[in-house]
Amino acid sequence: MKVALIGAGAAGAACVSVLRSRGADFCVYEKSRGPGGRLSTRRVSGVVPEGDFYYDHGAPYFSWSQKLTAQLAESLQSSTLHPFKKDTWIASPSMPQLVKDMLGRGEVHLQIEIDAIEGRAGEWFLREKIKPHDMSPVKHGPFTAVVITAPAPQAQSLLREINCSWKSQLSLIEYNPCWALMATINEIQIPRSFSSTIFASQLNCQQDKPGRIVHKSNQSWVAQATPEWSRAHLEESAELVLEQLLKELLSLFELKKECVVHSAVHRWRYSTVAKALGQVALSDPQQGLFYAADGCLGTGVAGAVESGLKTGEGLSLSLKTRNSDL
Ligand SMILES: Cc1cc2nc3c(=O)[nH]c(=O)nc-3n(C[C@H](O)[C@H](O)[C@H](O)COP(=O)(O)OP(=O)(O)OC[C@H]3O[C@@H](n4cnc5c(N)ncnc54)[C@H](O)[C@@H]3O)c2cc1C
Repeated sequence: MKVALIGAGAAGAACVSVLRSRGADFCVYEKSRGPGGRLSTRRVSGVVPEGDFYYDHGAPYFSWSQKLTAQLAESLQSSTLHPFKKDTWIASPSMPQLVKDMLGRGEVHLQIEIDAIEGRAGEWFLREKIKPHDMSPVKHGPFTAVVITAPAPQAQSLLREINCSWKSQLSLIEYNPCWALMATINEIQIPRSFSSTIFASQLNCQQDKPGRIVHKSNQSWVAQATPEWSRAHLEESAELVLEQLLKELLSLFELKKECVVHSAVHRWRYSTVAKALGQVALSDPQQGLFYAADGCLGTGVAGAVESGLKTGEGLSLSLKTRNSDL
């Protein structure tokens, strides 16, 4: 009776924390090089002798509740959560640490992108996306249950070949896109209040965050373009977007291009939730198909964690019932 999870972000990891505590057999498939999903920190090496730069280019911070801390008491290390500004929190030493804590030492297969789910109720297989050197796609399974945690449009694609009672509900979820600019500047006297039509209020300096590795002579910034600007420029090349966003940042900081030590952009097609489902998760215990993600509640990282925890509880219960029926 094995459970497969697609995605090692906040929702998937929270679900794992429950499955592990209930003794369930599970494994996680994640397409990226590391866990975290949109709770991510990029490391840039080899640019200056002082060392690496770090950018929290996904969620810069998140809200959190005492209730979540209590629910995750067995998983969270005491050094991971740090209070930040205006009732928000960050994870330390980098954002993915929250996800790593919840995953624990579970079975996580990195750099495996699942293309589709196939099979039938209680006997599911995950088909990997075919790689250039593969003759035929690799399949994983069978699994009694599958938990999908990818953003809704990607989840819909994973389910395209099978019937699933809640599949149509995924189309109700909408996301904001976001182009995020990362820039390290060799100037440290930069004011902290700005007014820009391109950037959201989200201009974040790594140096302002507790517990981050920083340089004495440089400041690393992440500036998120507004959903409107990001949508209008979504399909533009990264080079063109970088040029425009950097120009805006330098004009806000009243600095010249020569001050920029490193810069890059990242496009998030699905960043924050614009329209949520309004329920904590989607599930069909008979079929063994579950959906947990931020799109369910629409309250960012905390909502994703809540969705994952609830799914883990529901799933553990349905596995227990199946076991006792056998
Ligand atoms: C720029 C930006 C700013 C944000 N600001 C905030 C904020 O201020 N506060 C806040 O609370 N939240 C914020 N968020 C949102 C927050 O990061 C997300 O709500 C949360 O991290 C979502 O977690 P999740 O587990 O639902 O999804 P994800 O983190 O997206 O996890 C899904 C995982 O599934 C993997 N995956 C997808 N498809 C496949 C596949 N086919 N095969 C294998 N793996 C797959 C992905 O690689 C990913 O790791 C922000 C996000 C961004 C990008």
